[in-house]
Amino acid sequence: MSKDRVLVTGAGGFIGHHLVTALKQMGYWVRGVDLKNPEYAETDADEFFLLDLRRWENCLKASESIDEVYALAADMGGMGFISNHHAEILHNNILINTHSLEAARVQGVGKYLFTSSACVYPEHRQTDTDVIPLKEDDAYPAFPQDAYGWEKLVIERLCMHYRDEYDLSTRVVRFHNIFGPLGTWDGGREKAPAALCRKIAKAKMTGDATVEIWGDGEQTRSFCYIDDCVTGLIKLMKSEFSDPINLGQDRMVSINQLADIIANVAGVSIQRKHIPGPQGVRGRNSDNTLLRQILDWEPSISLEEGFARTYPWIEQQVQEQQHGANAVTEVVAAATSVAS
Ligand code: NAD
Repeated sequence: MSKDRVLVTGAGGFIGHHLVTALKQMGYWVRGVDLKNPEYAETDADEFFLLDLRRWENCLKASESIDEVYALAADMGGMGFISNHHAEILHNNILINTHSLEAARVQGVGKYLFTSSACVYPEHRQTDTDVIPLKEDDAYPAFPQDAYGWEKLVIERLCMHYRDEYDLSTRVVRFHNIFGPLGTWDGGREKAPAALCRKIAKAKMTGDATVEIWGDGEQTRSFCYIDDCVTGLIKLMKSEFSDPINLGQDRMVSINQLADIIANVAGVSIQRKHIPGPQGVRGRNSDNTLLRQILDWEPSISLEEGFARTYPWIEQQVQEQQHGANAVTEVVAAATSVAS
């Protein structure tokens, strides 16, 4: 059993929550920090602090007596959010990450892992649906599409400089679309996999087969199941590799294909309705050559298996939300009839 004391920032969020559970199962002592508690399940962390990591003094408190930091806290969401909140994202995430990294240095943290994104890659390399998979070096010359990607790139560089000038042992991972249960599925910050599961669950419940898809649905991506993501994160922390590295699947599918895979899992036929909406880059895939070489491993849980585990959870959330709404309607109707 390891006695290392680990900090997970963003532990109230999707990936952070799963990571805390996995680290606890491996015997680590874990402190979780976030603005909020996990929404859908209790945390397994030994200690959970509600802190705003944009503030320096909170970052100092978070990393006190800590050996390893997994830095996941971020103001983020799917394309609908990222493409409309550039100023907020850049401002908040620069504060969170510059303060978190400096606090880790001041507190003498041993290892620091920063969670970056495939959104760092330049837009001009992602203009076709049949895109060439992105290698880590493709990030330069830099031209990410959104402020979200620019911020990730700046913090990647900050990690590199802290490693070189302050001898802090850093890791940088670039996620490619992580999905799974216990992630945001409505409210505006949800990403395409969860949004599609929700829309398909509603189609199944109402019997109206129409499922709205932003754009023509031919835009392509790769998607990685959460358990693979968490395994990769922990392996990377244990490795000695400190340059940026992709973490994702390298099976590319279109959003239309993704919708069909989910509908198949749900056991319904759907009719795709294409509507205007933010789509991000036209195509994106992960080149996993470096990942295989460094970790001797790569994600292996198939999309079909991942959605077989994810869809039922979202369907249940949608049903519970609908039952809640029906109950409110009944109470209001009863109160109205008493009053009249
Ligand atoms: P998430 O939104 O579920 O989790 C992020 C957490 O950070 C949230 O719980 C949020 O409350 C917290 N947070 C935001 N502002 C904070 C603040 N000021 N102080 C403290 N906590 C704050 O997102 P996620 O999907 O779990 O992503 C985790 C990390 O991985 C993020 O850095 C994200 O940018 C990165 N990433 C995720 C994906 C993906 O597909 N999910 C892809 C690329 C990169």
